[in-house]
Amino acid sequence: MAKRDYYDILGINRSASTSEIKKAYRKMAIKYHPDKNPDDKTAEDKFKEAAESYEVLSDGDKKARYDQYGHQAFEGGGGFGGGSMNMDDIFSQFGDIFGGSGGGFGGFGGQRQRVARGSDLRIRVKLTLEEIANGVEKKVKVKRKRQADGVSYKTCSKCNGSGQVTRITNTILGRMQTASPCTNCGGSGQIIDKRPSNSDSQGFVVEEETVSIKIPAGVVDGMQLKVTGKGNAAPGNGVSGDLLVAITEEAHPTLQREGDNLHYDLYVSLPDAILGSSIEIDTVTGIVRLKIEPGVQSGKILRLRGKGIPNINGYSRGDLLVHINVWTPKTLSKEQKSFFQKMKTDEHFSPKPESSDKSFFEKVKDMFS
Ligand SMILES: [Zn+2]
Repeated sequence: MAKRDYYDILGINRSASTSEIKKAYRKMAIKYHPDKNPDDKTAEDKFKEAAESYEVLSDGDKKARYDQYGHQAFEGGGGFGGGSMNMDDIFSQFGDIFGGSGGGFGGFGGQRQRVARGSDLRIRVKLTLEEIANGVEKKVKVKRKRQADGVSYKTCSKCNGSGQVTRITNTILGRMQTASPCTNCGGSGQIIDKRPSNSDSQGFVVEEETVSIKIPAGVVDGMQLKVTGKGNAAPGNGVSGDLLVAITEEAHPTLQREGDNLHYDLYVSLPDAILGSSIEIDTVTGIVRLKIEPGVQSGKILRLRGKGIPNINGYSRGDLLVHINVWTPKTLSKEQKSFFQKMKTDEHFSPKPESSDKSFFEKVKDMFS
């Protein structure tokens, strides 16, 4: 079935303002709200369709993409597919629409059982370039809250375990249900029954745990990885939060990273530049032997394909770009000096750049092509 146009769904035209979009959605949400249309599949579909339309059209960035590309803008992992919003997403959107901290409408008459979730923990992991290039498994120590031995919880009597308190209000639009987090249990639906003396008021103890984190090759400084379920515990039968791992890349003594490519400054002696040489350089994947052709120019860039950083998506690998710098000594012995004095007048030593000795700007162009 072809997807309907978001503007048509909300019954507005393309020039509708933000407040007009909001107003139109509000109207649809009230009309098709599941609480007002129990067991009506058509109404539920319309409700979801309207929520999806609003989700896109109320977001400046998504709206711009939709205006330009239509539904195609969100295909292929771009976020929304056909009605991918679930009821939780839709209800969480309501705070914005209907105002109030409780989020306006509640779920389905308080039947939805919310699962309490523990808080997330955050750590920072420092990686060397070699670790980033090859991937690494890091063991880190984290202090996690876990339920103390002997603790027991019972269902909160105020909210019957739902974590929220609903109430019916009469408005000009008819009876509406509003929900707010339960103050008795803090929204978790569970309260302490018995707890050992060494635990905190929620029945937790803090314990140090060693967590193993598999870090894939190609991560980037500032990237955040998630280890599911390794955050703090939740009360009762709730689920633990996550451990969020922020990546920091340590500076490398000789290699500079630029995306997936690496740069290396190689200093070549004057005799090696003139006579040619074979030089070993240390890369992120080990030692590489490099041939220096006789007559190499300072500023030349040698590209070692695939000797860079693997792409995080696993499709490709960057290159290592070796920048040649001919090293000129500042002082010379008498003998050396007289040798070069003689060469000064030798026409053979005067620069005659060939087209292959590309200018700096042409090389830069090459590097990014
Ligand atoms: Zn409660």
